[in-house]
Amino acid sequence: MNLKKLLLILFAMMFFIHSQAGDIKINKVEPPCWWIGMKEGFLQLMVYGDNITNTEPGINYAGVTIEQVHRTSNPNYLFIDLNIEKEAAPGVVPLVFNYEGENIGVYDFQLFKRRKDSEIRKGFSPEDVIYLLMPDRFSNGDITNDDVNGMLQKSDRSDLNGRHGGDIRGIVYHLDYIHDLGVTTLWVNPLLENNMPWFSYHGYAITDFYKVDPRFGTNQDYADLVQACHQRGIKVIMDMVFNHCGSYHWWINELPEENWINQWPVFTRTNYRNPVIPDPHSSQYDFQKMQKGWFDITMPDLNQHNPYLANYLVQNSIWWIEYADLDGIRMDTYPYAFQDFMATWVQKVLDEYPNINIVGEAWLQKESLTGYFKGDPKSRLGLNTHLPSVTDFPLYFALSKALNEEESWTGGLNSLYYVLAQDIVYHDPLYNVIFPDNHDLTRYYTSMQEDLDKYKIGLAFLLTTRGIPMIYYGTEILMTGEENKGHGFIRKDFPGGWPGDPLDAFVSTGRSPQQEEAYQYIKNLLNWRKENKAIHNGKLIQFIPENGTYVYFRTHGDESVMVILNKNITEKTVETARFMECLEGFSRGKSVITGDVIQNLSSLTIPAMSAEIIELIK
Ligand code: CA
Repeated sequence: MNLKKLLLILFAMMFFIHSQAGDIKINKVEPPCWWIGMKEGFLQLMVYGDNITNTEPGINYAGVTIEQVHRTSNPNYLFIDLNIEKEAAPGVVPLVFNYEGENIGVYDFQLFKRRKDSEIRKGFSPEDVIYLLMPDRFSNGDITNDDVNGMLQKSDRSDLNGRHGGDIRGIVYHLDYIHDLGVTTLWVNPLLENNMPWFSYHGYAITDFYKVDPRFGTNQDYADLVQACHQRGIKVIMDMVFNHCGSYHWWINELPEENWINQWPVFTRTNYRNPVIPDPHSSQYDFQKMQKGWFDITMPDLNQHNPYLANYLVQNSIWWIEYADLDGIRMDTYPYAFQDFMATWVQKVLDEYPNINIVGEAWLQKESLTGYFKGDPKSRLGLNTHLPSVTDFPLYFALSKALNEEESWTGGLNSLYYVLAQDIVYHDPLYNVIFPDNHDLTRYYTSMQEDLDKYKIGLAFLLTTRGIPMIYYGTEILMTGEENKGHGFIRKDFPGGWPGDPLDAFVSTGRSPQQEEAYQYIKNLLNWRKENKAIHNGKLIQFIPENGTYVYFRTHGDESVMVILNKNITEKTVETARFMECLEGFSRGKSVITGDVIQNLSSLTIPAMSAEIIELIK
């Protein structure tokens, strides 16, 4: 037996040594591996193991050195600062643990070659449309992983709040469906392990930051999913959660330091009041509760001001980008985490990957409060967050008002006009992620009162105004559900995603005539939008809504698109003289909706309750 094999076996057995200091054992090294050629040479390993503090780690590998070893109040942790030179060779770095001068164990720390130069990695952008899906509820591609030994919650498809068995393989099976639909980016709700006894399906109570939940698949399955997406020209966004973890996270009973999480004498819930963060008049009482209160009794609040945790989280993001070849990050509950840390986190990720994109979930009603979380020093009101994208909740609220309210000075379609007029608060509003609903909100078709005409107008708006649109799975087949009945109602299974489902809405024969009409409408717009530069990056010029119609243009170089939303229950003829600044030089147009050529632009007749999108022709 050679030495390496022996060491591997030793490690596999989780080595023990009995001494006066107690049994010594290694349970985990995180990150579990790394890459050479990173811009940042600093890497801090967290080693977790019984009495590991009593050991002295050592490395003998060209280009990799231990700079410092940190011990905390918990003897079961070591934090080891490494310096990895760019010139170091890929390979296995034996991380040796010594006790009283004797080598008592080795962790084979793997250094890989990077996939590609970090500059090449291009994140999602206004050219893209995101498809959001909840992996437990989209498709069950492998029934053998529905229940896994050691996992606290078993599957039960009859329980709206239970696990239904959806998984990564189910997503892979339907990638052609997703590609045909015309979306270009996939955001999957968190896939990391949630070994919680309840509500483990949604993924937001992470119990292991380095491991895909085995009921969804393996880490390799996730990396393979990303590659399968890339082969189809689809980018992938990973959903990350740094504000909290699950109460069954392995470190909760064994915190590296007492201040690893924000502790309270008795359970204290956050006030969920995001405006407390930008509010210049906030009380300390509200501020502390917002930042340090727990999101839920099952979700301990992480203290990103602990320097070891801060390193851990930054490295965790970089590890997943490199490991899975990601194109973007969606950061959950962005305002709830300490904002100085989040700004540093964004900077460090962007330092390593300058062209990747990050969207922060900032659930705020008002434009200026939303704008606070996204910005550069030129236009920001407070701290520079460096965050490239935010979720545009003000536009989400306005969309529902636009189509459900009567027209008034600021209501109805004017709601959209007024939100967009406030783009002054964003340094680059083209990068706002815009959406008609999501996994936390009443389903779009339900909020449109199951009116297919309204549904189409709203989607036409969403796919042509400024921003990066996001479509929640099932919107294309008119899935319904009210949030106030419970989250299970807005996260139902995609019909046809499970073996034996009576209807398969992934194929046209499984869709009702109305579902098919909706699907074809959205598919047509998505596939058209893919290639339209004016919609991606064009300037938005909007005209004040009049008489139940709202007209705007997107212009980019020679390309121009005119959009008319008609909310009237009658056909409307729009005289176009007031749009001359945008129509000058164009003689004709082509309807994106019908494909018809429009020969005369001087007046346009729009059918009742509909949207017209016209590509202008010189
Ligand atoms: Ca499954």
